[in-house]
Amino acid sequence: NTQAPLLDVNGIEVIYNHVILVLKGVSLQVAEGQVVALLGGNGAGKTTTLRAVSNLLEGERGAVTKGSIELRGERIEKLSTADMVARGVVQVMEGRHCFAHLTIEENLLTGAYTRKDGKAAVHDTLDKVYTYFPRLKARRGSQAAYTSGGEQQMCAIGRALMANPKMVLLDEPSMGLAPQIVEEVFEIVRDLNTKERTTFLLAEQNTNMALRYADYGYILENGRVVMDGAAAELRENEDVKEFYLGVG
Ligand code: ATP
Repeated sequence: NTQAPLLDVNGIEVIYNHVILVLKGVSLQVAEGQVVALLGGNGAGKTTTLRAVSNLLEGERGAVTKGSIELRGERIEKLSTADMVARGVVQVMEGRHCFAHLTIEENLLTGAYTRKDGKAAVHDTLDKVYTYFPRLKARRGSQAAYTSGGEQQMCAIGRALMANPKMVLLDEPSMGLAPQIVEEVFEIVRDLNTKERTTFLLAEQNTNMALRYADYGYILENGRVVMDGAAAELRENEDVKEFYLGVG
């Protein structure tokens, strides 16, 4: 079915520690080749939504207790994170999480550990990652601990790309970065989306930046989607301007 969205999240509830209901029926769709932004303030449920999709809830004592998640029409709630990577879905976690004592290149190569198509193919992907991230190429031999926050964020994204994903779940890429670097990161996301057709679902508190680069946006509040629409429409929406863009 070519009409089915790549990702279809339908009315999911997520509970942490058996009691705390954090997502209260979240639905969203991501079509192949889109950049979709998941917006909203601190604690709205953005990270939880991404974790539900990539099956990273279990380690957090969380579980999807209602609703369904489909990837190309296949139910995926019961799959492992490794199964998700095999299906082309990878998550870049908030806070970058590079291995501090490994070099940038070693970090990138760890992203290819599930691949079975051989060293040459992995090195082709590494070369490709370096064309999108010239900064990483320049710092390839540096220990991640000694690179900048921006370079570490790029390293985390680059490492995800080493798995050859169809869809990247990107959690708060702007966190702790200077505006100019945030822009650089988003430009690369756009580039990857345009040239590689990589699909992105990104969680962002930086509404302004995210809506400049996304095709579509969902705004979460307190575990519910309170508004969604084309990014261009959301940017012009009076409520969005007042509550999320800081101009009123
Ligand atoms: P942030 O930008 O701060 O990460 P968010 O929109 O991503 O915000 P979540 O991290 O999904 O929000 O958190 C949603 C709610 O779930 C918050 O109230 C948070 O305290 C709670 N929560 C998150 N992780 C856990 C956990 N492992 N155990 C219990 N509660 C959690």
